[in-house]
Amino acid sequence: MHWAGVSLRFQEHEFKMKTTNGAIDGANVIDWPISLQELTPYYEKAELKMGVTGKTTGMPHLPHNNDFKVLAEGARRIGYSKIEAGPMAINSVDRDERPACQQIGFCMQGCKIGAKWSTLYTELPRAVATGNCEIRTDCMVLQIEHDATGKVVGVVYADKDGKTQRQKARVVCVAGNSIESPRLLLNSASSKYPDGLANSSGQVGRNYMTHMTAGVYGVMPGEVNMHRGTAVAGIVSDEAHNDTARGFAGGYTLEKLSLGLPFLSAFLDPGPAGWGRKVSGALEKYKYMSGVWICGEDLPQEINRIQLHATEKDQYGLPVPVVYKTDHPNDTNMRNHAYRVMASIYGAVGSKEIYNLPAYPASHNMGTNRMSEKASEGVVNKWGQTHDIKNLFVSDGSQFASSGAENPTLTIVALAIRQAEYLATQLGKGEL
Ligand code: SF4
Repeated sequence: MHWAGVSLRFQEHEFKMKTTNGAIDGANVIDWPISLQELTPYYEKAELKMGVTGKTTGMPHLPHNNDFKVLAEGARRIGYSKIEAGPMAINSVDRDERPACQQIGFCMQGCKIGAKWSTLYTELPRAVATGNCEIRTDCMVLQIEHDATGKVVGVVYADKDGKTQRQKARVVCVAGNSIESPRLLLNSASSKYPDGLANSSGQVGRNYMTHMTAGVYGVMPGEVNMHRGTAVAGIVSDEAHNDTARGFAGGYTLEKLSLGLPFLSAFLDPGPAGWGRKVSGALEKYKYMSGVWICGEDLPQEINRIQLHATEKDQYGLPVPVVYKTDHPNDTNMRNHAYRVMASIYGAVGSKEIYNLPAYPASHNMGTNRMSEKASEGVVNKWGQTHDIKNLFVSDGSQFASSGAENPTLTIVALAIRQAEYLATQLGKGEL
């Protein structure tokens, strides 16, 4: 619901960060146990399902809005060429019983007309209509239970009235993403699994990644009105490749992002100095501003992790998660490189006033139950099946072994489709 719709595929090297760059000091880099080639058919299935503009669906990319025209022109003037208004999971023509985008804007609030893909009005109602799916809303899983052999047998959850219920299951798939999924595995600790479920490697909750991020907003000589049209109207990918000569491993994309006034005012100059004449003066130039969000490879580090709070509990009596995240020097080098590039791009189209926004405190959540070939280096195998318990799966972005320079949703969906096929086969064979 609350996403922009950017649907980029990962690049080949991003599945093989260890092979591509070797070990990196202070980082816990591994290769994914799958390749781009293996995932490509599932990227195609995901693109067809979600309605992603571009080659697979044949849907044209969306039109360039004013804001993207500014970025694209600046990028061209400094010699960049990978400038595209997509791929986006937003209908550019009527498709799949949903209308084409009307460029209403503020897509992150949820698309007002259903042009942008959202499971709320696509997959979920269709799944319920099959009669094979039931959605129990406002529930909270408290614990995953297992039998004496260690296989999981179901979950205990609090229902919408706060009553404890037990649901038996042949297979449990956890899909709470990078904070709630490891939290649930850790909260499900038992005498057989004292460190939490699927945690024999000690990697549950570790290697939390959010992308290397920053924002750059330039004041242009003429009106831009960045709030008009899709929130992310296009992407520049000339720096998305891997080239360590730039001083960092991995790459980054420059994604046009029209921030609303509340977010922009909070982030123009965060901290105690971030108010008064300087900030209000900048905000008065809002309609002249153009801006990007920088989305770059964030290296996995063991210290970046989700842990359970020692004393503080939520309304269900469960320990709350403690989230720790810090930059690796690779992030700092990459961010500074991106600031320089954006100064050139916006300078090339006449901006004399440029604001570098720092890393956002949260963005995409990835890692914490990562995929690995070796059980000792991660939590799940290449199917998202936990190394320790064969009928326990992770089905979300916490599986990611690297973050890539791309927004994660398309890869999450591709992995989910692939995992669903595997589950169906395994269940059919009686293996689970
Ligand atoms: S611009 Fe409007 S119509 Fe288009 S995807 Fe965003 S919210 Fe939907």
